Amino acid sequence: MEDLRVQLTESVAVDDFVTWSEWALARVGFRPSNTLAVVDVCRDELMADFDDAVSVVWGKPFDIGALAGMVFLGKTGLQAALSHVPGEDGRHRFVVFCFPHIGFDDEGTVGRVLRRGMSRASTACGALAAFRSELATGDRAFSLDTDDVEQSLLRMRLAPLVPGTEVPSLLGLTELARATAVADVRHFVDLARGSEPVDVAYISGIVVHLPEGVDRVVSVAAEVIIDDIVIALPH
Ligand SMILES: [Zn+2]
Repeated sequence: MEDLRVQLTESVAVDDFVTWSEWALARVGFRPSNTLAVVDVCRDELMADFDDAVSVVWGKPFDIGALAGMVFLGKTGLQAALSHVPGEDGRHRFVVFCFPHIGFDDEGTVGRVLRRGMSRASTACGALAAFRSELATGDRAFSLDTDDVEQSLLRMRLAPLVPGTEVPSLLGLTELARATAVADVRHFVDLARGSEPVDVAYISGIVVHLPEGVDRVVSVAAEVIIDDIVIALPH
């Protein structure tokens, strides 16, 4: 895992990233008029600007993100999204944006962010930072807590992916959350798809919250799957 500071040297502004997504997907037949945006971000209000930026280009998205951008909506939820896809030419198209987030304050501390109206920095992503603290205690016997459904599902989904007694960095956990979210959406799409063709673009990365309310996107990965053929999208 590269240092976040290094990754930031190749980061892009959120608006520029969304503009790129429209350009890149137009080349494979995805347009805002024939594509449903599916957005997977953390519930944190810091991600509202990202959601808005996607909406401006791609229209109102179908939101699937739980805490930390984990994806728990399952087959039934994905089937609902599928039934909303335009499909004017007989093909259904999704563009899925999976973007967990992380803070980076003006002292260079990863995971810290100064929110509007608050004098002290707080944590982003809070759910992943809490999970990291729990890993550090050495207790990995996680189970479903009906009073804490999303966070307990997060623990149950991610903990088996962390080897031994390792406690990854917050950036490492954020990357793990991203990879897991993409894998889980792909799984749910495969379970939900019927006999009609479904083309899906998977675009993922990490949103970094910098001082002064500036958000940047790092570590972008993008591909589109059409008729089981995977096409990488250059960025
Ligand atoms: Zn969060």
